[in-house]
Amino acid sequence: MTVDSRIDLHTHSTASDGTVDPADLVRQAAAAGLAVLALTDHDTTAGWALAAAARPVGLTLIRGAEISCRWYGTEPSIPLHLLGYLFDPTYGPLTAELDRIRAARTVRGERIVDRLRADGYDISWDAVLGHAAGGTVGRPHIAQALIRAGLVADTDEAFRPEWLGQRYRLPKDDLDVFTAVRLVHEAGGVTVFAHPSATKRGRTVPDSMIADLAAAGLTGLEADHADHRPDQRAHVRRLADELGLVATGSSDYHGSHKTVRLGEYTTAPAAYERLIAAAHGVPPL
Ligand code: AMP
Ligand code: FE
Ligand code: FE
Ligand code: ZN
Repeated sequence: MTVDSRIDLHTHSTASDGTVDPADLVRQAAAAGLAVLALTDHDTTAGWALAAAARPVGLTLIRGAEISCRWYGTEPSIPLHLLGYLFDPTYGPLTAELDRIRAARTVRGERIVDRLRADGYDISWDAVLGHAAGGTVGRPHIAQALIRAGLVADTDEAFRPEWLGQRYRLPKDDLDVFTAVRLVHEAGGVTVFAHPSATKRGRTVPDSMIADLAAAGLTGLEADHADHRPDQRAHVRRLADELGLVATGSSDYHGSHKTVRLGEYTTAPAAYERLIAAAHGVPPL
């Protein structure tokens, strides 16, 4: 295994919509031969303590989060994901926004269940909450309930347009992405735009907007990601070069909610070094 294949900067645990708890995740990461793992649950830092406590010697843990953002510079606005790393988790203005987003996710999840029930599907909100098990609620937890009810075969089917991909997809109350970059920065962290060219997830933002984000303090772009085609990965790398941004790669591991493996996509050591050199909120562990 080359050193290049050992830095994975985007993973999820049971603190959001992953299926592996934070302690098992760091153990799996070490067993998979990773040198660096970032824990980036959706809109929460709740998994940080468990991951830190269970971190095996030899694995570096980067504490982070994937923040649900939106770009309001076009109509209708475009949702997007911003990875924040190594920020102070007690910085009030940021934690207030994360709290607000998680609350909005809960309201939105319940509304999705209401719509499903109104159409005659016997899904319960309690079942969804059970699958979320106290973590940030997301559509994968509703997908689990649909699977248990025998309505779909697997998560992939649950995300088809006739289900959670479109028909029962409701918008969340996200955070303006420029505000998010600023708040993470104020908290001493750095930001990377997650899967910026993933057209399979919906509309993407123009390169000119990414240039504006770079000017506003963005540090990196996630280039190598399962939701990017090879041409999209190449385009993101080129754009990162042009804008002086760090290009990263990561698995976006979600346990059994997705088929991607830990460490399937990785970040080059030089890119990783640039990223962490720019942060001073909390240290790598
Ligand atoms: P939400 O955050 O509630 O909008 O749900 C989005 C989450 O669903 C993403 O973070 C992924 O974890 C997951 N997801 C999105 N599309 C798919 C898909 N096609 N198959 C499996 N999981 C998906
Ligand atoms: Fe997710
Ligand atoms: Fe994402
Ligand atoms: Zn993710």
